[in-house]
Amino acid sequence: MTEPESTAGRTDLVGMDRDDLGRALSDIGVPEKQIRMRVGQLWLWLYRRGVTDFTAMTNMDKGLRAALAERHRIGRPEVSRAQTSVDGTRKWLLRVGGGQEVESVYIPEDDRGSLCMSSQVGCTLTCRFCHTGTQRLVRNLEAGEILGQFLLARDALGEWPTPVDGGRLLSNIVMMGMGEPLYNFDNVAKALKIVMDGDGIALSKRRITLSTSGVVPLIERCGAELGVNLAVSLHAVRDDVRDELVPLNRKYPIAELLDACRAYPAGGNSRRITFEYVMLKGVNDAVEDARELVRLIADIPAKVNLIPFNPWPGAPYECASNNAIRRFAEVVNDAGYASPVRTPRGRDIMAACGQLKSASVKPAASARRRAEARS
Ligand code: SAH
Ligand code: SF4
Repeated sequence: MTEPESTAGRTDLVGMDRDDLGRALSDIGVPEKQIRMRVGQLWLWLYRRGVTDFTAMTNMDKGLRAALAERHRIGRPEVSRAQTSVDGTRKWLLRVGGGQEVESVYIPEDDRGSLCMSSQVGCTLTCRFCHTGTQRLVRNLEAGEILGQFLLARDALGEWPTPVDGGRLLSNIVMMGMGEPLYNFDNVAKALKIVMDGDGIALSKRRITLSTSGVVPLIERCGAELGVNLAVSLHAVRDDVRDELVPLNRKYPIAELLDACRAYPAGGNSRRITFEYVMLKGVNDAVEDARELVRLIADIPAKVNLIPFNPWPGAPYECASNNAIRRFAEVVNDAGYASPVRTPRGRDIMAACGQLKSASVKPAASARRRAEARS
């Protein structure tokens, strides 16, 4: 993809932190003693007002605006497809260069709305039940590409300037889209720090949840640097089963993962770790598994999120039966854990968990298979 003529060669301000913005201003000749003030102004335009046009920045003189516009742009991801489900869920397929695409999904609920954001194109991990894990082309998203998903959703919801009094349509972020966020920690952290900054979007760390398949060495950093809520894709209670479902378990087995969870900053009773558990028929859905689960997490402030398996073409598993899910949930509830069964949202637009996969690579992959079949 070549960029449109008007923005070619211009670097995006979206994704820059305050230091980056300071350097950008200094590069266009803004005197040192003005930098802090100008960064503050830019920050409000970008993240409180959500403007995408330098001419709107009325507290900056024309010369400065022109100099900024000559070198920079204020970008948004390019939308290749936007869909709205019958249940109000909205999905954006975003083109991120090189023909690659990622997805983000907005899920409205009664008293809040969550944006499920992607951290990578595809995923290098190959969890067997996950569609994203079958995608071959993988790359990390830049901080601006991660943040851009949020800004785009706010544009679409018409939620600028940033509401100051709660009651936001986009009130929560879940890093549960494509990719393993802890394998792209620096960019994810940079984007989330911008989102949490009190002068701009000012989303509380309590309203952000990062889901990991269990990258143990980075869990501590995530707690110390970001302090967001942690969700852990556990999915199995025995290493032999988890080795198969989540191959990363061979590197960081269950006991180590749970130790990292115990050490995660909890900060009060409301901050519990969410254990995600995808319900797979005959694999991990027995009542004994549920009992073992509550034993394993007994000393961790936790909630359990049971996710009915969302099938995709060619998936090697089936979803557990409603009865099995109910029995499993009962054991977990009886042990005192909240264990909501995640209701699939946006099924009609393939927006459910684990179904996110760049459609753009599908034709290529099927063409490759056809070619392989011919040879
Ligand atoms: N890579 C991170 C975050 C993205 S996946 C992680 O694995 O945690 C978000 C959640 O969806 C994870 O719990 C993941 O295990 C789950 N998931 C993946 N594929 C799924 C499927 N087909 N059905 C239901 N849940 C799935
Ligand atoms: Fe990657 Fe998460 Fe899918 Fe596993 S479940 S392949 S870690 S996106």
